[in-house]
Amino acid sequence: MLSIIEIFRSIQGESSLAGLPCVFVRLAGCNLRCSWCDSEYTFTGGRKMSGDDVIAEVERLATPNKLVEITGGEPMLQERELVPFIEQLLAAGYQVMVETSGERPLERVPKAVRKIVDVKCPGSGESAKFRTENLQALTERDELKFVLTDRADYEYARDFIRQHGLERNGQELLLSPAFRKDAFGSRTAENCLLDPRELAEWMLADALRARLALQVHKFIWEPQIKGV
Ligand code: SF4
Repeated sequence: MLSIIEIFRSIQGESSLAGLPCVFVRLAGCNLRCSWCDSEYTFTGGRKMSGDDVIAEVERLATPNKLVEITGGEPMLQERELVPFIEQLLAAGYQVMVETSGERPLERVPKAVRKIVDVKCPGSGESAKFRTENLQALTERDELKFVLTDRADYEYARDFIRQHGLERNGQELLLSPAFRKDAFGSRTAENCLLDPRELAEWMLADALRARLALQVHKFIWEPQIKGV
């Protein structure tokens, strides 16, 4: 059984596939406590559902591109149940993405999955948690995401990318300004902890091989709305 917070259809917001319709399966539980986390409602609760029941709900909501993102919380905390569920989704013809904090081992995630792996920066309060061995488990379709609150986070991300030679690898490297936890009402960059324009200028000045990624859904719907 999987412990599920919500299953919904929306627009993919945080990867190179941002903007595409997608069904989201949000799992319960997380072992980190990022300072800017916008998913604290996943930390407790969740309803038990069998893989078959989750697939039935995914089928009901399915988008024409058959894209499914598994997120949380931290989905890899349910690895034993999650891997067979992912295999079921792949067998049914879905494109599957998994969003993960990068703290749990990723070797057992099927290679056909696009993994969006966070590297937590100091502003999150969880930067020591990244499991470096996970870099070896990445395929060319995977993406590394750095959520940034300030210049110190940017330099941490830039140096991490360069120290690990990631600009030479095939993975997409996403630099994303963190959103304020208490963001409310307006759908503007004012809610970002780091001004996207500043970030763009730093990336260009350093000629960094990376993509500036805005959380698209927070510019479409008000940032306080959940399940979108
Ligand atoms: S890993 Fe994700 S869900 Fe967990 S605390 Fe950090 S941002 Fe929140």
